[in-house]
Amino acid sequence: MHYQITENKLVRKNAVRFENIRYCYGDVCAVQNVNFFVPHGKLTALVGPNGGGKSTIIKLMSGFFKPNEGEIIIEDDSTIGYVAQGFNFDETFPITVKQVVLTGTLDKSIRPFRKYTKKQKQKADKAIEKVGLQGFENRGVNQLSGGQLKRVIIARALASDSQILVLDEPDSNLDVEAEKELYTLLENLKEIKTIVVASHHIDYILDIADNAIYVNRTTQNYNNPKALREKLKEGMVL
Ligand code: ADP
Ligand code: MG
Repeated sequence: MHYQITENKLVRKNAVRFENIRYCYGDVCAVQNVNFFVPHGKLTALVGPNGGGKSTIIKLMSGFFKPNEGEIIIEDDSTIGYVAQGFNFDETFPITVKQVVLTGTLDKSIRPFRKYTKKQKQKADKAIEKVGLQGFENRGVNQLSGGQLKRVIIARALASDSQILVLDEPDSNLDVEAEKELYTLLENLKEIKTIVVASHHIDYILDIADNAIYVNRTTQNYNNPKALREKLKEGMVL
């Protein structure tokens, strides 16, 4: 476990650590020499050009890919809630908001059609409240706006009890208003989760991020996101 001692209190320092990671799709290595930290309880932004390797890093972090080289260290007892770039379910299917969020509480070993316990229902309600969708519990997900749908997916990840929430371009296909709301939501969620967000909207994301990782075949860590913004202004490729 990765602890630092601060004023006699044990404080968890890093939620995730990538050490010298390389990942290749067949013969083509998407990322290499990747070294960075995700500080516990903070918001970390992954930014960089299209094809630079953000989604690859997110899939490595979420355990979907195994690295060809290096080590990924996740803090003890932590699990990752992954929010994909597209939707993780058929959003045209008339299932309700509450039903989708409840699936987040399911243990992988549990059959999906069993009855939910009171505790699971409470978790789902709490998650729905956190993302500001109270009153929409019984609405079909096929009757939601793009921004509301994103918040349903985030609520499902929150209901899963994962300590680390990882989102790949959650702002894609949203209008400006919904995008702003999403960033406000992510900023508020910092209080309860460690958050990692890949985004190409650097103005919004670097404003709310505590830590930034520039991803372009390899990574550069900026514990001051404003410093990265300056570099990008000076012409570093995005
Ligand atoms: P980003 O999310 O920053 O746009 P990606 O991680 O999706 O970047 O892609 C990084 C590189 O890996 C790109 O060159 C992309 O073409 C390549 N890549 C991504 N997925 C695959 C795949 N399934 N097979 C082969 N190459 C891939
Ligand atoms: Mg991507």
